[in-house]
Parts: sequence; structure tokens; C-alpha cells
Amino acid sequence: MNDLDRILGNESIKDYFQHAIAQGRVSHAYIFEGEKGCGKKMLAAAFSKIMQCEAPSGKPCGKCTSCIQMDHRNHPDVIWVTHEKANVISVGEIRNQVVNTIDISPYKGPYKIYIIDEAEKMNPAAQNAILKTIEEPAEYAVIFLLANSRGAFLPTILSRCITMSVKPVPDYAVRRYLMEQEGIDEGRADFYAGFAMGNLGRAIRIAHSTEFNQMREHAFGLLKSMHEWEIFELDEMARQCKAYKDQINDYLDIMRLWFRDIIVWKILKNKEKLFFSNALSSIQVQEKQLSMEAINEINDRITQTERQIRANVNFEPSLDLLFIFIRRRYQ
Ligand SMILES: [Zn+2]
Repeated sequence: MNDLDRILGNESIKDYFQHAIAQGRVSHAYIFEGEKGCGKKMLAAAFSKIMQCEAPSGKPCGKCTSCIQMDHRNHPDVIWVTHEKANVISVGEIRNQVVNTIDISPYKGPYKIYIIDEAEKMNPAAQNAILKTIEEPAEYAVIFLLANSRGAFLPTILSRCITMSVKPVPDYAVRRYLMEQEGIDEGRADFYAGFAMGNLGRAIRIAHSTEFNQMREHAFGLLKSMHEWEIFELDEMARQCKAYKDQINDYLDIMRLWFRDIIVWKILKNKEKLFFSNALSSIQVQEKQLSMEAINEINDRITQTERQIRANVNFEPSLDLLFIFIRRRYQ
């Protein structure tokens, strides 16, 4: 399978680049905007590979030295700009890695490509430093700025770049990818695809994260028997949740998905539409015991609890009260 086929969705961006590369009309500066994990790096890497391939055909051959170097991320003419501090890309880093090296011709390839991930972290000084490079680019230079939003850039940068919005992938495509490429069973794939909301990178990450899956199992255990718990058991559940303190937003999101599934079942009675398709019997029982009104109250309460935890209200009691509140909504 070639690199572009492995990237789901975003067909118009893929078409554009394949044509631009084939016609030798690649621009000097692109912004890929989109949320973390939506595939910006995969796209930039795939296009770089096609551009540098020694057997140009609109697809990377995967066999030439250039393609192999791309796979190992050590192609001398494809520079992944790095930064030391987590929250900022400094002017020094842009000067050292981009501005001061871009005039040196490529070693071997037809292009010299710079990929700046998290480019929204370039401060104004760094953006001004790169601006001149973008204004008067060397013939062979291509710069990819990958960012969560174009809003982070100075207007002078924006006006000189071609901006492409990288879209999240539809749930069904993520689900299929997880099953076919990652060997994940159907029930879990439904859940990960729904939870990641079209973000393939995120779906793959959580599917293989032990930490996430322990937390998910705990939340799932709590929810699927929610109609049966005694209050003292819920106290214990809340106590156990301390282990998931760092992931509590994900925990609460899983709770939201669960009650969303109950609404979906109430209305559609369609198993295919459920994120927790492997817990159908539980959903069927709970659906009869929860009114729409009760589910709305539960959702409000989850949001309220999320806010309290963010404001550092005592963690365990907040969750305990939430669990008890939910339990009492069942009839
Ligand atoms: Zn090649």
C-alpha cells in the first residue's frame, strides 16, 4: 500500500499535491491547519516522499534510496524543524534550522523541504524571521507549516502561504482502519472511532495505550452496571478513580458517550449507531429506566463536575456525588 492510500480522507488535498508535483508547480509555502492527530504530519511526509522520490510517478516508489531515507526520517533534504521548549519555537531555532541553511542547495533531491510541526508556537519574532525566506524563496525550497489553526500566523505569513484545512476522517473510515490495519475487534473499534471523533492519530494512540484502556475498562464497568450499584459500591468506585485523575476528562467523556448511546437506542434502536455496541443488553435495560429528562440532567451534572474538578474542588467527593446523582436517576 502506498503512503497516500494509508492516509484516510482529505482526498482533495491529496489530488492537489499529486497534480502539483506531476506538473512541477509546487508552491514554496504551505500551511496545513487542523487539530492534533488529524494527519498533518503524515500528509507532509507523504508529499515530501513523492517530491523526493528518484523514480517520480506521482506515487513514491518505496524502493529508492530517497524513499528509504524518508521512511527512516533521515533524508538530508527534508528537514523536520525541532524546538526545545514545549510552548514556543524561538527565533534562534528558526534561524539555525531554516533561515541559515535554506540557501545551501539540496544534497541530492530536486527539493529542499522544511517541515515545521506545531508552527503555531512560533512567536512573532520567529515568524518574522521566516517571513523573508517565504518572500524570496530559493527555487528548490518548500516549507510546510503545520498548525492547529491558521489564526496563529501573522497576516504577512498567511498571505504568502497556501492554506489547506486537514479534515478529521469519518468515523466509519477510522473504524475500518482500526479493524483492518491495527487488528482491533469490532466492538472496540466502534468505541475508539467514536471517542476519537474522526481523529485517526488519536484513535490509534488510545487503541494501543494501556493506561487509557485500564481507565476505559473502569468507566465501562461502572456504566454498564450503573442501574445495579449500591451507594457504598459507588463510593468505592469514586475512590478507585483517583488512579485516573490525569485522565479524568477522558473518563467523563466516556460517560457522556454512554448516555449518548442510551439516547440513540431510545430513538433509533440501531446497534450499528452505538459506540458501546458490545454492551447492548445493558443499554437496553438502562434505556427503560432512564427518561430523556433524566439523561439531560445527568449530562448537565457531568459538565458541572468537570468544571468543579478543573477548579480544584475535591476530586473524590465530586465524583462520588456525581455517581450517586446518576444512580438515583434510574427508575
Ligand atoms: Zn522512491
